[in-house]
Amino acid sequence: MTKHSDVVIVGGGVMGCATAYYLARRGITSSVFEQNTFGWGASGATAGVVGPLWHVPHDNEPYFELALKSLRMFPTLASDLTDAGLDPQYRQSGVLKVAFTEELAGTLRDDLAWQSDLDMAVEWLDAQEVSDREPDISPRVLGGVYSPQEGYVVGQSLVDSLVHAGTQLGVRFFDKTEVFGIETEASRVVGVRTAAGGFEAGHVVLASGPWTGIATRWIPEDVPIRPIKGQRILLRLPGLLPRSPVDGFSGYCVPQPDGRILVAATRHEYEFDQVVTAGAIADMIKAAVDLYPKLKDAQFDSARVGVRPGTPDDLPIIGPVPGWDGLSIIAGHDAVGIMMAPATADSLAESIASGDGVPLEPFSLGRFSP
Ligand SMILES: Cc1cc2nc3c(=O)[nH]c(=O)nc-3n(C[C@H](O)[C@H](O)[C@H](O)COP(=O)(O)OP(=O)(O)OC[C@H]3O[C@@H](n4cnc5c(N)ncnc54)[C@H](O)[C@@H]3O)c2cc1C
Repeated sequence: MTKHSDVVIVGGGVMGCATAYYLARRGITSSVFEQNTFGWGASGATAGVVGPLWHVPHDNEPYFELALKSLRMFPTLASDLTDAGLDPQYRQSGVLKVAFTEELAGTLRDDLAWQSDLDMAVEWLDAQEVSDREPDISPRVLGGVYSPQEGYVVGQSLVDSLVHAGTQLGVRFFDKTEVFGIETEASRVVGVRTAAGGFEAGHVVLASGPWTGIATRWIPEDVPIRPIKGQRILLRLPGLLPRSPVDGFSGYCVPQPDGRILVAATRHEYEFDQVVTAGAIADMIKAAVDLYPKLKDAQFDSARVGVRPGTPDDLPIIGPVPGWDGLSIIAGHDAVGIMMAPATADSLAESIASGDGVPLEPFSLGRFSP
């Protein structure tokens, strides 16, 4: 095995695999090291909603622009990955957000004011229009906002298809191979230490999700990423499948291509364990039955935990690490890492290829320096 690569990527979640894919499309070879299996972390546990309008702050221009770019990239990425052999199961189904109270309906209408300026055909649906679209939805729903250009993707399928397409483009993927440290010469990063031995690299990318903070042990830099545990469940009820993700403020239901309904999500700060809890399941079942009363008769399929990577200012960390040659980070996407993956990974790949980190400055680790 040649233990050298243009780029070494630490972490095989959506960020690591998408970065490898977009680097390979620019002719740059990389090796991706994953301590477990690809998508084992939050990327496989995700709800997979591709809906930036309610999840990415629209008043932060660089971040919101990146989110809209990512949304626009999804159809092409999905079609390219499918052509390469594995379907990521992306659906531009639209996303519906509904209100049960006048206060929440007012919140939705307020948001509709700026959303209408985006030229994305976002529209208000009254109670009857919501029920025409979703006949099994609760009669207590007062109305909602439908955004037709958003949708969802199956997180594990997206990761698998990136690995499949990346392999065809020459990326080397190593599962069950933990990275233990970074090799440096003065301020230059020259490789990594892995469970399979040392590996030289011209550039190292930390894409280790909530574990990226552990890099603080490897280099004298504080990488302020914290774990935020999330849980989701899968239900099945023959004859009932939402047409699109439906968000009821206290939880959302996401149709799956195989007929199951994903219900998400819980959020617990600073928790890193993989324990599925009874309380979380109870909360999510309540949210699902509030939206679709018939789901009280659904079959309980399974539950899963993922740990999101959070940052102090809720923005991801993307781009070169100041003070180091040959080291970049792509992490900290918290609850929006799936929808942000195409534009984020493509931008990082461009910055590595061109050596120009300036476009990513709003997301630089340097913003946390005193
Ligand atoms: C319940 C839930 C619902 C969500 N819903 C949505 C949603 O609807 N839409 C959305 O956009 N986002 C959603 N998210 C968030 C999204 O899933 C995450 O932001 C995204 O998956 C993070 O991807 P990542 O690649 O940064 O991290 P991860 O997926 O955690 O990948 C990091 C990988 O690095 C590996 N690793 C760590 N350290 C090492 C090491 N030293 N050596 C080798 N490998 C290492 C880990 O094993 C892991 O596989 C949700 C998350 C959860 C938990």
